[in-house]
Amino acid sequence: MVKQKHSRSERRVKVKTPSGRVVIHYKPRRKHLASCSGCGVRLFGVSYGLGVASSERAPSRPFGGVLCSRCSRQAVKERVVR
Ligand SMILES: [Zn+2]
Repeated sequence: MVKQKHSRSERRVKVKTPSGRVVIHYKPRRKHLASCSGCGVRLFGVSYGLGVASSERAPSRPFGGVLCSRCSRQAVKERVVR
């Protein structure tokens, strides 16, 4: 099956051909590294995408893959206090 090209799921890159014509090539979007939503530090042990085992995707704990260990510890403590 041919992948749909004229959607924005893939980024458009303008490429100049040897004849000088500018054509649009569709390339997969760059994956960005997961970062903590609390302090913005890069999260370790988190990888997303197809072909990645579920055990490699995110830590299986509350706020896993969203907050870093320090921020998630604080978040859990704040929830207990209330
Ligand atoms: Zn954090």
